[in-house]
Amino acid sequence: MPELPEVETLCRQLNAILPGEKVLAVEILDPRLGEGEGERLIGRKIAAVYRRGKSIRIEIGKRDRLSDMSPETDRGKVKKIRMDKGFTAELHLRMTGRLFWQTDATSLPPYTRLVMTFSAGKLLLIDPRRFATFHARSRGAALPPLANPLEGLPARRLGEIAGMRRLPVKHFLMDQRIVAGIGNIYACEILHHACVDPRRPSGSLAANEWRKVEKAAAVILPRAVACRGTTVSDWRDLFGISGENQKHLKVYLRDGETCRRCGGKIGYMKLSGRGTWFCPACQK
Ligand SMILES: [Zn+2]
Repeated sequence: MPELPEVETLCRQLNAILPGEKVLAVEILDPRLGEGEGERLIGRKIAAVYRRGKSIRIEIGKRDRLSDMSPETDRGKVKKIRMDKGFTAELHLRMTGRLFWQTDATSLPPYTRLVMTFSAGKLLLIDPRRFATFHARSRGAALPPLANPLEGLPARRLGEIAGMRRLPVKHFLMDQRIVAGIGNIYACEILHHACVDPRRPSGSLAANEWRKVEKAAAVILPRAVACRGTTVSDWRDLFGISGENQKHLKVYLRDGETCRRCGGKIGYMKLSGRGTWFCPACQK
């Protein structure tokens, strides 16, 4: 499942290609994605792509420029364009969704659910399990900002929210209402880096332990973005290339192997139903 670094990778790669490109066609091949919504995007130019939590938001501009019209003869049209605030297309990849930028004329890969055509290439949404979502909406009021873990996890604030909660700290970090974008891989890695046992009740962490969590996230998340994500199964970037962060993993999928920090043996357990890797020797 793509987590924050993977979605951030896609947004950065899309932002290098799409702004200024005009949408030539939108084909929704899976009615579950929301039939017909794409039609309204055709003829509009992409303004920007950005990430909000784990969503990819593509800002799409107005259809025409007011300056091309005569206010006398095109009064109706001018009014319509004044009302037109552009669109936001929101993509969420969920479990198995991925994006692929196709620039040659080969046939579509299996499980392609959506094709957005631009003059420079085609943006494909590929999703074997069909949980990914796509919505195009008129651009409304700006959404309130979500805390962005790439800009730092505020240790003091996390400690306040944790309060006296019994929820294991690993699940606290993965709660999308508290921290947006951290999933199983990076929660395991951050807690190992911080020397904190993932089973600890989140309310039991001392202030200095939250500071260690903050520092760990500040190392692990930006490095994963610089490596274009972690490929341990099916993650590929926009161009179909594997990420490289897997070489930095210290605990994830390493059960039975040696801890690179203390020489202990990496353990594995299910914690609230999710596979959890940690070093019982140095994570306290
Ligand atoms: Zn260890």
